[in-house]
This record gives sequence, structure tokens and C-alpha cells, in this order.
Amino acid sequence: MIPYGRQDISPADCDAVRAVLESDWLTQGPAVPRFEALLAERCGASAAVAVNSATAALHLACLAVGVGPGDVVWTSPNTFVASANCARYCGADVDFVDVEPDTRNLSVAALADKLARAKTAGRLPKAVIPVHFGGHSCDIAAIGELAAAYGFKVIEDASHAVGGSYRDRPVGSCRWSDVTVFSFHPVKIITTGEGGAALTRDAALANRMARLRSHGIVRDEAEMEGPPHGPWYYEQVELGFNYRLTDIQAALGASQLGRLDDFLAARRRIVAAYGEALGDLSAIALPVERPEVRSGWHLYPIQLTGDPSRRLPLFQRLRERGIGVQVHYIPVHLQPDYRRLGFAAGMFPVAEDTYARTVSLPLHPRLTEGDVARVVEVLREAIAELC
Ligand SMILES: *Cc1c(COP(=O)(O)O)cnc(C)c1O
Repeated sequence: MIPYGRQDISPADCDAVRAVLESDWLTQGPAVPRFEALLAERCGASAAVAVNSATAALHLACLAVGVGPGDVVWTSPNTFVASANCARYCGADVDFVDVEPDTRNLSVAALADKLARAKTAGRLPKAVIPVHFGGHSCDIAAIGELAAAYGFKVIEDASHAVGGSYRDRPVGSCRWSDVTVFSFHPVKIITTGEGGAALTRDAALANRMARLRSHGIVRDEAEMEGPPHGPWYYEQVELGFNYRLTDIQAALGASQLGRLDDFLAARRRIVAAYGEALGDLSAIALPVERPEVRSGWHLYPIQLTGDPSRRLPLFQRLRERGIGVQVHYIPVHLQPDYRRLGFAAGMFPVAEDTYARTVSLPLHPRLTEGDVARVVEVLREAIAELC
């Protein structure tokens, strides 16, 4: 089976991990701050807080920007459940903003409309979490303008978009947002096994997220409420978590980050090959890239232009023939746990319609030209027969 995504681990990556294993520190050593500094520098943010998943980073970001009980947080329905769950961990409610049909990112027009209505109703969101679907940045400057006008925080879920850019600035720069979150799960663009990070330009937010990552404990006397009892002393000043990344993982992350440009180039080559080989097919629409965006190309989601009932047989045929397609995403509001909160089919029709039509083709740096040719051949045959 040709998988839709997978990691690419080099001998140098293994050496970096081995060096940590043979060192004094498996966790809370020098590899984590080094990885954080590299990430922040690469993205043009002032700080990065590395954690053990993007889910943890989203949770910390929500807490740091002040999301709590009684608040509401808005996100895209076309995402992995973690983008919405983070608000519920804080005791807040979740609502969704429908997506635009081509990028399948949160629609700025729908957001502006919903904000105007929420203002009248007196329930504006505390934070909005736009998701850069497939690696393609949302129109984050426009979202930032709405944030300034309506007074909400912006947390970018850039789990798919490590290495992407928008208006020539790296995703993660936080030029138009408060926090940007990355995932380093193995199917994403770079990996630490499990892992994630929250980037920001705001030193106070970075400090708060770093404290919450490790039990809400401080060791700096300036942050303590009482005098230290001695050199061993620390204080828990609020309730935090153990969301730490290990040094083993951080060393892998730093090594992978050094390979990011090669990964992005490989992904772009495959995307160009798919575009050339599939562009003439009227039965499918290929993913787009806006002029102001360089996508990280985490995913290659195609959409059937005709009868969506053909998606299931197409998916099955591709799987039977060894092509490891996937579907992104089951709209979050249709999950049973969200339906129980009052969400129902029909509420976010664009996310629902694009979900019904979509299949993600394999896309990762280890795909060979032969693999791509095979995907194209099987897909063209299946479309000719089934669509
Ligand atoms: C993968 C993913 C997450 C969660 O990432 P983890 O590192 O597995 O916690 C969150 N949001 C989106 C959009 C994702 O794709």
C-alpha cells in the first residue's frame, strides 16, 4: 500500500537521537530550548514553546489567551477534532464557521457575517482558531483585522502548515495572530514522534504557556509569591500539566527542521506532477494555491465535481489497488460528541458538501516518481469506470 502520508527519517536524524540517548539528559535538558530557538528563528516569532502534541499546544494557547468557562471559541468544521476540543478542555463552548469551497479554509466572509450577528446577540467569541487546511494558510491578515475590530484572540492551527508562508512571511510568524500551533505527528511535515509547539511574539503568552506546560511551577524568584526556602525551592503558582517534550524528541525535531526545505521541495515536485497528470480530468477538482500563499502541502485533497455518491466506490477501488487514500475531514460538528451539544447536519453546508466529495491522494517526500505514476494510473482508470 502506498500510504497517504508518512515520516522520512534519515541516518542523521537517528544520530541526533542517539547523541541524546547517550547524554546526561533525556528530558528537561538542552535539546528542547535549542529546538525552540530554531523553530522561532525559522518562523520569525519571538518564542516557541515545545510540547508533547499539537493538542497540548492548542490547550495551552487557549488557556494563555484567557479562554475559560462562559466563553465561546470558534473554529473550522473542516479539521481534526483537536482544533475544537481544546476550548472545551478550558470549560468554554465551541461554535464553527463554515469554510470556502476551494481552499476549504474558514471563510472570512462567513466569519464577518457571524461576528456581526454575534455582536448584536452579545456573544462574541473569546478566540477564533483558523485551521490552515492541507498546509494552505487561511487569509490570516483579514482574520487579524476582524480580531482587532471585534476584540477576539487568534490562535492559528498550523498543524499542516509547517514551512508554509503567507504574503512572504512564514506561517508561525504570528504577524496577524496571537499564537500559532504546529504538530509534529509522523504524518505531518516534520516529526518528533509525538509533539507540537506554540509560537508567539508575546513574551507574556510564551511565559504563561511554558509554565502551564510543566505543572504551573516557577523556579524564578521574581515569579514567586513567597521567599524561597533554599536553592531547591519552587512554587506551583497555578494548576498546570505535564505537557513536556523530551530531549530525545526535540533532537529529532531539530534534525528534521534542518531538512524542512528538502521536504517542502519534494512535496512541491509531487504536487506539480499530480497537477500535470490530472489537470485535464473534469470529474475532479484539484487543490488550489492562492498567489499570496505557499502551501506546506501536507495533503493533496481532490474533490469529485459530479455525483458525490461515487466517492465511496472510488475510495474502495483505490484502496483495493494499493493506493492508501484517506478522507479529510469528517466535519467536527457531525461527531456524536458534538451532536450531543446540539450540532446537526445542514449547519455548515460547505464543509459537509466538500467532505462528501473529497479523497486525499498520497503525498509525502518518500513517494517516488514510480509511486506517483502508479497513483495517477489507478486513479484515472477508476474515474473512467466509476465517475
Ligand atoms: C494533527 C492535527 C492536530 C493534532 O495534532 P497532535 O500533534 O496529534 O496532537 C490538530 N489539528 C490539526 C488540524 C491536525 O491535523
